[in-house]
Amino acid sequence: MLEEYIQKGIVEEKTLLDLLREGNEQVPQKTALIDPYRRVRYAELMHEALQCAAVFQENGLVEGDHMLLLMNNRIEFFSCLFGMMFLGVRPVLMLPSHRRKEIETIFEFSDAKGIVTYGNELGFDYVQTALEVTAEHGRVFAYEKREGVNYLPELLGHASEPILAEVKGQDIALFLLSGGTTGIPKMIPKRHSAYVYNAIYSAKRCVTDETSVYLAALSVAHDYPLSCPGVLGTMARKGTSVLSMTASFDEVAMHIAQEHVTFTQIAPSLAAMWLECMEWEEDVDVSTLQYIEIGAAKLEWDLAERLENAFGAKIIQGYGLGEGITCFTSIDDTREVAWTCQGKPISEYDEIKIVDEIGKEVPQGEAGELIEKGPYTFEGYYHAEELNRQLFSEDGFFHTGDKAILTDEGNIRVIGRVREQINRAGENVIPSEVEAYLKGCEEISDAAVFGIADAELGEKVCAVLIAKGEELTLLQVCEKLSEAGMAAYKLPDVIYYVDHFPLINVGKVDKKKLKQDLNIIGER
Ligand code: AMP
Repeated sequence: MLEEYIQKGIVEEKTLLDLLREGNEQVPQKTALIDPYRRVRYAELMHEALQCAAVFQENGLVEGDHMLLLMNNRIEFFSCLFGMMFLGVRPVLMLPSHRRKEIETIFEFSDAKGIVTYGNELGFDYVQTALEVTAEHGRVFAYEKREGVNYLPELLGHASEPILAEVKGQDIALFLLSGGTTGIPKMIPKRHSAYVYNAIYSAKRCVTDETSVYLAALSVAHDYPLSCPGVLGTMARKGTSVLSMTASFDEVAMHIAQEHVTFTQIAPSLAAMWLECMEWEEDVDVSTLQYIEIGAAKLEWDLAERLENAFGAKIIQGYGLGEGITCFTSIDDTREVAWTCQGKPISEYDEIKIVDEIGKEVPQGEAGELIEKGPYTFEGYYHAEELNRQLFSEDGFFHTGDKAILTDEGNIRVIGRVREQINRAGENVIPSEVEAYLKGCEEISDAAVFGIADAELGEKVCAVLIAKGEELTLLQVCEKLSEAGMAAYKLPDVIYYVDHFPLINVGKVDKKKLKQDLNIIGER
């Protein structure tokens, strides 16, 4: 429990708001955030966040309310995030890749009072979707003027002094989302002090300091680019963060050159794409990059080598999950360690064990499930008592679901998962969720989904289908799932058809046999 770590003096009772306040007091004129459209100093960010707090308050939001925050990487993401926190309102961080179905499910599940978004961006009308989802009960705050929207640019101009809540370190600061978002959505409550601790200790391990310029290429609604060390860790060290709207190489290369970016955090699949672009582009100046932090999925040696050579930056490998532990290799580690291991936990108070199916520790060096407990590990998903009971051992260790070994030097090496879950380019896809969508199509009578190894994506989504009549093509299947509101990263990359599924036990599809029957190579 966080309280115990605070009592023992391990965790300081600080809030994420303190990070902003300290920046405002100590380095008010320093640039805090840059996005493709503008830049703000720490003092300006503080001012904008307070203005947002005032507008939210004037429009009825109160302490304890939940609000969905659905925005691409922009400065406004942080003005609104801190604005809500100043009132004790808890933002639920939706991924910008989420679509109607996910947004609706989480909106209902979280009992949110509304949605804060920007506008029609990158080919998706976030405002229209927010208006539809909240139609019955809820309000929409946006930066684009539409009927029924609380239009922030106008309201911010007239904002008065907000009355701030007394936010404490133990309070919930925000909710991250985990895995699938239909079926049973999983909301991860992040408490202020625990999240500050995670940000600060990640920043320490990754040698982030006031000279650091961080490039957020992935969505900051993810734990990793937000707080490991991400924008919040950079802020804790009074550095500067650059928010890239997209992860396209053209955009990130421009930011790196213009803002003299010193470090970034990416997943292996993105690294591979950037490398390909580097080979085509001439005159790309990435010479200021000192560190590339790679995490979220398995890194291959060859990719690591090509990346270090092409970018001239040192790789720091990381492993972590929104629910808990964060690990990084250290800058003094050898290539063997940095390229093949995910390092050590960021805190000396993180406890890890590698266990077998019955929870017994395996001998040193053998593979098993990684279970952990520590100062910033969560205490359970929001409104999921049954699931939470299964996730923690009797002595309070959280079952990560990841299969790992511990090397003799105490480094973690993740080798797969014990639970069924596909890691597609660093995004988690839950097979049962995609199966539910597929079974919802009138042309499909049954579906089995699993991951297959892929050189570029790490894993791709494979769906084996039983057709009712005529077989849909992959494109038709994807169109149907998109129409049903499923996010693009969960769409099948490949489909197969069979007449029936091999079964184990009563009705459970034997996916292992299915893969063998179809001769699908590269599966896990
Ligand atoms: P999330 O909670 O969305 O950040 O996803 C966390 C999951 O991503 C972990 O439980 C792992 O399965 C996977 N993951 C994170 N980092 C790595 C890594 N370096 N190598 C392999 N898998 C990883």
